Amino acid sequence: PLILAIESSCDETAAAVIDGEGALLSDVVASQVDFHARFGGVVPEIASRKHIESICGVCDDCLDRAAAALGRDGLRWRDLDAVAVTYAPGLVGALVVGVAFAKGAAWGADKPLIIVNHLEGHLYANKIGLPDFEPPAVVSLVSGGNTMLVYMADWGSYRVLGTTIDDAVGEAFDKVAKALGLGYPGGPVISKFAAEGDPEAIPFPRAMMHSGDLRFSLSGLKTAVVTYINGEREAGRELAVPDICASFEAAVVDVQVAKARTALQETGAPTFCLGGGVAANPMLRAAYEKMCAEEGVRLVMPPLASCGDNAGMIAEVALDRYRAGKFSTLDVDALAHGDLEQPY
Ligand code: ATP
Ligand code: MG
Ligand code: FE
Repeated sequence: PLILAIESSCDETAAAVIDGEGALLSDVVASQVDFHARFGGVVPEIASRKHIESICGVCDDCLDRAAAALGRDGLRWRDLDAVAVTYAPGLVGALVVGVAFAKGAAWGADKPLIIVNHLEGHLYANKIGLPDFEPPAVVSLVSGGNTMLVYMADWGSYRVLGTTIDDAVGEAFDKVAKALGLGYPGGPVISKFAAEGDPEAIPFPRAMMHSGDLRFSLSGLKTAVVTYINGEREAGRELAVPDICASFEAAVVDVQVAKARTALQETGAPTFCLGGGVAANPMLRAAYEKMCAEEGVRLVMPPLASCGDNAGMIAEVALDRYRAGKFSTLDVDALAHGDLEQPY
């Protein structure tokens, strides 16, 4: 089959076409980040408006690229076998643009509609470039809105082992970047500075390190970093930005790795995976390489370009739903919250 998948849960308008072998024929992402950057974060109204402006063009471009990959002159909606869309979780006003568009396209072309949970998409990103990868696995999902360890017994069958009790990891990166005046989003720019800094320069707290469970807390670390920055400024010292970034990252990574190790030991899973925008972080990826080698566990990570929001990962989920004949009715609604343990 040929399936077109749409993603619009936050500030990326994205579309991808996947074929029956799981090959992504096209994978288009239009980021709105420039429109949100001046506000230091995603503004929901702007996100909705930009999705409305971009979605036709993104889908047309995606169909054209898929046609080119197939060596065809063009691809029409009628040439597809299904239309898929992220329906939850995320910004409702953003999701609803993709959902309404996908419903219209499915209805107009008389094709089935498939609905996908965004977080399940982040798990499936591990399949991109590695089609034969199979669960069971422990997955660390670290994104702008979520921080969790998940036991993936099988595709579609997930158990959440622990989550953050306050901020998400990506959120902490964004807040620290804001405090340093580095703009939005924070992850990429903090990574860059961190590469030149000393991760042991400042002893930031490793929250929940010894909590005896798989929960996380990031808000105390964020406050510690902001307090440190304010103290340096008040003392009239120049900020050692690379050291602050590296030390902040090290505090995040130490806790992430320790809890992931425990999750692997407790579940006996043979494979460890990452998902979400923060999975692109080089220090985190390197630390997991070391930990997985020590534990004798296979490490699978999404390609760098597939860590953040994209429609390729949604298309991967959609192909499994298509094969299982799991389609949605056209009265489905976008939802702000979605339970990963009941993804559809
Ligand atoms: P969710 O998936 O939970 O709904 P989201 O879709 O907004 O949230 P993603 O797009 O998956 O989140 O990830 C965005 C987050 O990833 C941002 O907080 C961003 O700062 C962070 N991020 C991106 N690149 C890096 C990096 N190299 N290091 C750390 N964090 C990063
Ligand atoms: Mg985003
Ligand atoms: Fe996401």
